[in-house]
Amino acid sequence: ETKVGGRHGYRFYTPSMRERDSARRRIEDGLHTALARDQLRLLYQPKVDAVDGRIVGAEALLRWSKEDGGWWLPDEFIPIAEDSGLIVPIGAWVLRQACRQARAWQREGHGIPVSVNVSPVQLDDPGFLAHLDAALVESGLDPHLLELELTERVVVSGSQATGALLRAIRRLGVRISLDDFGTGYCSLSYLKHFPVDVLKIDRAFVHDIIQDSETAAITTGIIAMARSLHKDVVAEGVETLAQSEFLRDAGCPVLQGYLYGAPMDATLLEARLREQPPGQRASSGDT
Ligand code: C2E
Ligand code: MG
Ligand code: MG
Ligand code: MG
Repeated sequence: ETKVGGRHGYRFYTPSMRERDSARRRIEDGLHTALARDQLRLLYQPKVDAVDGRIVGAEALLRWSKEDGGWWLPDEFIPIAEDSGLIVPIGAWVLRQACRQARAWQREGHGIPVSVNVSPVQLDDPGFLAHLDAALVESGLDPHLLELELTERVVVSGSQATGALLRAIRRLGVRISLDDFGTGYCSLSYLKHFPVDVLKIDRAFVHDIIQDSETAAITTGIIAMARSLHKDVVAEGVETLAQSEFLRDAGCPVLQGYLYGAPMDATLLEARLREQPPGQRASSGDT
C-alpha cells in the first residue's frame, strides 16, 4: 500500500482516497475532543538490565481509547496529529503526565528514568522548552529521570537551531536518546555534532540478528561504537532469549521488548518494581 499525504507528498484522488481523507478528518476531529475528554492514556514498557534483568527504566507509549472500548495505536493517529499540529498540545500532555508518573514512582522509592517520545513537529514549536520546563517544575521530577526519545528525522533535518535546542534540553538535565537508530539516514558523523546520550538500536536489527550474520555484525559494531563514544545503548524489540543473549554478549547493557513485557498500565509496572529485590545499581551504567 502506498502512503498518501505527508507534508511533501503528491495527492491524486480516487474514491478510496477520498474515503481515506474523510477518515483522516474524523480522526483529527476525534483527537480534538480526546484531550478534553480524557481519552488519552500512557502505557509504560520496561527497560531491563541485560545481565540481571532488573527494570532500569520505562518508556511511555501513547494510547487513545475509542468510544467503542478499543484503542487507537500511535501509528494510526500520530501522523495525523503531526500534520494538523495537534501533536503540540498532545505532546505537552504526554510530557506532563509522564513526569507526574515518574515523580510518583520516585516517591515510592523506584527512581527509574522514564522516557517520552517526541516528534520533530513538537521540537519545531517555539513553546517546546517551556512545556518541558513546566512539566518538570509542576511534577517536581528530578530532570535526570526524564529522557526524550527523538528519531533520526530530527537530527537529519536538523538545523543549527536544532543543535541549540538539544543543548538547551540537556542543560535542564534531561537526557536525549536517538530512537530507531540505524534505520534512517543518520550518518555516524552527525553523532559528533548532536548531543545525544543514548542510542536506541531499532527493532528491525534485533529481529534479524540471529538469522542474518551481516545484521549481527552491524549491531555488534553499533554497540561497540556507542560504548567507545561513552553513550548508553538500548536494544528495542527483544522478543526471544537468543536475541537477548546475543545482545548481552555483544555488550548491550539495556534491553527492551515483549520478552520482558509489553507496554502496560502504570500500576502493573509499579507492581513489578515492588517485586524486584532491592538492587545494588541505581540505574543502567553510564560508564
Ligand atoms: P517507538 O518509540 O520506536 O516505540 C516502540 C514500539 O514498538 C511501540 O509501539 C511498542 O509497543 C512496540 N514494541 C515494543 N516491544 C516490542 C517487541 O518486542 N516487538 C515488536 N514487534 N514491537 C514492540 P507503539 O506503542 O505502537 O508506538 C509506535 C510509535 O509511535 C513509537 O515507536 C513512537 O515513535 C510513536 N509514539 C508512541 N507514543 C508516542 C508519544 O507519546 N508521542 C509521540 N510523538 N510519538 C509516540
Ligand atoms: Mg521510542
Ligand atoms: Mg523505537
Ligand atoms: Mg519506532
